[in-house]
Amino acid sequence: MREQALKELPSVDEALRSRHGEKWLSAFPRRYVLQAIRETIERARRLIIEGETPSELSIDALAPEIEAGVKRLSAYSLIPLINATGVVVHTNLGRSVLSKKSVRNVMITASSYSNLEYDLTSGKRGKRYTHLKRLIKDITSAEGALAVNNNAGAVLVCLAALARGKEVIVSRGELVEIGGSFRVPDVMAQSGAIMVEVGTTNKTHPADYEAAINDNTALILKVHRSNYRVTGFTSEVGVPELSSIGKKRGIPVMHDLGSGCLIDLKRFGIPGETTVMEALKEGADIVTFSGDKLLGGPQAGVIAGARGLIERVQRHPLMRALRIDKMTLAALEATLMEYADEEKALKDIPTLRMLLEEPGKIRLRAKRLSILINRHSKSARAEVAEDSSQAGGGALPEVNLKTYAVALRPEGVSANALEARLRAGIPPVIARIKEGRLLLDARTVSPGELKALAFAVASALS
Ligand SMILES: *Cc1c(COP(=O)(O)O)cnc(C)c1O
Repeated sequence: MREQALKELPSVDEALRSRHGEKWLSAFPRRYVLQAIRETIERARRLIIEGETPSELSIDALAPEIEAGVKRLSAYSLIPLINATGVVVHTNLGRSVLSKKSVRNVMITASSYSNLEYDLTSGKRGKRYTHLKRLIKDITSAEGALAVNNNAGAVLVCLAALARGKEVIVSRGELVEIGGSFRVPDVMAQSGAIMVEVGTTNKTHPADYEAAINDNTALILKVHRSNYRVTGFTSEVGVPELSSIGKKRGIPVMHDLGSGCLIDLKRFGIPGETTVMEALKEGADIVTFSGDKLLGGPQAGVIAGARGLIERVQRHPLMRALRIDKMTLAALEATLMEYADEEKALKDIPTLRMLLEEPGKIRLRAKRLSILINRHSKSARAEVAEDSSQAGGGALPEVNLKTYAVALRPEGVSANALEARLRAGIPPVIARIKEGRLLLDARTVSPGELKALAFAVASALS
């Protein structure tokens, strides 16, 4: 009986040559087809030896299990998900979603040769940084500009190029840590610059900077307090004052802006974010900012400012290690081009659109979502609730954006359990829990995702 069953088991070769095998081989990598077949046959063999002979041993009977295995083995690790947290620039969820034009430009550039480092006029070697210079200059009025892999890299290479072995003055109130791994003192140490801390955690005065300047001072650094605020008995020295102190002594001022906002958000009632243009106008000689925070583009670090300083940075050997790749460049150029028409940028750059969307529109989307969820799942009891969401990405920590979410208090399952089930689904859904309810914030859910989200909730509840 057992012997007979073992004989009946198909061989790996038979499975491969079956109609299923042909189908799998055309759709999945051979290595994983083989692995799934071997594992499934081996499992069946073990069952037989243990005396639990499956009723059917044909390749047709084993096919569903093999197919599930092949799919699991050849699934990507980096996958799209639905961000229902309401945090627009969510560092753990990939920060900014690119605009359609930006995505199209990446596809076009990546699937063809390009003039990445080739000057079409002279027919000679060119520089990859030339592609961004005009746009950044037009948008920000900066004399010169460069882009590197990310803003941490931008700060590092600027410090290394402008202040290696020399002193950089920074306020104790600005020695920030961002996202666990970017710490101003550590980046400073890596760059070879000598950090000179002035002032105290809550108060730094112009005289503190003035007193710290000596013959070995190379730079005054201002760091944006991205993810926290110092309130109460405080004072800090703004860039205009730092700039006049610097000018008197011939020392440039660098401003690490973090977010890289290119649109004045004050006119939308959102205070507190210095734009790149403001920072330059205030007198910063060099500014650095991220491509994928409020700017709404790909991961990148932009360096903009005085031509002479930019040239020094561009010549530094670290530039080669931090260089921006062509797909990022394509995405960044297309994103920046959106800003050439500010009204279009507000609509077409997802980060800006989600950040500035009228609460009334978010409420309508939340309403539609609640209807879909209640239709697909009787036990969900979805309702619309007012709440507030965050910009994220270390931007605007004090700003609560009025939003609407779908609140779920399902029967028979806790909010925590439901959150975990949604996270394990395909696509995964990342939600928020508040006061025992599960919240799906409609701010960061696009209209095209509503159906998939409602299905995900229904299957998590079933
Ligand atoms: C986010 C941030 C950085 C790091 O930027 P990345 O693009 O994440 O490398 C550096 N400085 C400040 C002030 C920031 O907010």
